Amino acid sequence: MDSSNSTSANLHVAILSSPGMGHLIPVVLLSNRLATHHCVTVTVLRVTTTVSPPESNLLKIPLHPLVNILELPPADISHLVDSSAKIVTQLCLMVRVSLPSIRSAMTNRRPHALFVDLFSTEALPIAAEFNIPNYVYVPSNAWFTALLAYSPILHQQFSEEYVNQTDPIRIPGCKPVRPEDLVDPMLDQKDQQYDEYLKIGENIPSSDGILINSWVDLEPETLQAFAENRSVINILVYPVGPLVRESKPDHRSSELVQWLDRQPDESVVLASFGSGGVLPQKQMTELAWGLELSRQRFVWVVRRPTGGPVDNAFLRVTNGGEGEDSKPDYLPEGFLTRTKDVGFLVSNWAPQAEILSHPAVGGFVSHCGWNSTLESIASGVPLIAWPLYAEQRMNAALLAEEVGVALRPRALATSEVVGREEIEAMVKALMEGEEGGRLREKAKQLKKSGAESLKHGGPSYISMCDLLAKIASINNVIS
Ligand code: UDP
Repeated sequence: MDSSNSTSANLHVAILSSPGMGHLIPVVLLSNRLATHHCVTVTVLRVTTTVSPPESNLLKIPLHPLVNILELPPADISHLVDSSAKIVTQLCLMVRVSLPSIRSAMTNRRPHALFVDLFSTEALPIAAEFNIPNYVYVPSNAWFTALLAYSPILHQQFSEEYVNQTDPIRIPGCKPVRPEDLVDPMLDQKDQQYDEYLKIGENIPSSDGILINSWVDLEPETLQAFAENRSVINILVYPVGPLVRESKPDHRSSELVQWLDRQPDESVVLASFGSGGVLPQKQMTELAWGLELSRQRFVWVVRRPTGGPVDNAFLRVTNGGEGEDSKPDYLPEGFLTRTKDVGFLVSNWAPQAEILSHPAVGGFVSHCGWNSTLESIASGVPLIAWPLYAEQRMNAALLAEEVGVALRPRALATSEVVGREEIEAMVKALMEGEEGGRLREKAKQLKKSGAESLKHGGPSYISMCDLLAKIASINNVIS
């Protein structure tokens, strides 16, 4: 242990995770980071639901011995809303009904600090009952964090729906947000999920600070704006990223990795839409044709179209087991036969980080969830940004327009069907074109800068040390 960790070694932190694999994964990554690099003991308090299938444990991340996951009793919200309620409403209600069990878990464990994830901010006041500091973990980027924290002010400024605005939405010091790129809950102020989202923005300033999964080199201007202008966020922001799954392909593990082993370097494009994404039938057809016409090698994680919302699988995703959807009759006739030598389909869920880290993979058609984005960058793989839900349209804009690691379709896939010709052209440009080469270079550069940032003495490492020193001093913890 190095000397900067001698104090944090005596610390115990509780981290509250809202339901959904896309939320548990970054919490576990933060926990492992705290344990491995700062010797902190971590208890993850995981809010569970009655709707997620019990076998949905898709988390294949080994836990550090100092990290322990405590599953709270399943939160039943069926008496509060029906199953068609929007995802943010469901998540916030699940945390709300779990508050008594969160409190009782805290009583038994007495941590030195409480971290809550984005959808768990209603638990922040529990920290005061134990006289400990509290922090919000936004497992996403600084730009989205700015919008979230600034939303209560925007709410006062705009009397009409944001989507009816013609000008971009301004946040002091930050890149403006186009109305159509706003996060899902801001698209309809009459829906309950907007009220829940606004409450998150209102709760954040009552915390002692925000941890974000980003780093200085990725978003220098936004982070600078936070430091210089307290009108957006008036508490400290700790960029501690990129926290991302470390994964190496296990060459004996699966048929898929063995297939990748037989492909040339950087020749395969992965298409996958996160833990929640489900494409409509028409879009599945166009994507299938686009991939086929591009004549590139591909791995595609397919889910049966449901006709429901695009985030339909978020709380319900399972591992596509043996035989499940063995006949994907929703794909164009003859597609499987025609692409059998160049394509590999996986049903529902694939080891994404492992695939991206394989040398054969050179491009990623992604919904741009933040975990997926970081996994792509950590493997030096450029993207085709195909945002579907949550804050993904902002992520896509950031990646395509500011960071320079992604191509973006002309129209949003959530408002129009992206046609086969456009998909064909984008996939070719990403995998073979000059522009794809430039994006790949940038992704490789950021892979390096992310790794540097986390190293002892790097900005994200120091940021975490500062945070832990503060927690230790508030608690009078000494080595
Ligand atoms: N994931 C995976 N296999 C899949 C789909 C998703 O391993 O088939 C993982 C992915 O690697 C990432 C997480 O699930 O770590 C998804 O998080 P992200 O923030 O990208 O999107 P969300 O699922 O929250 O929309």
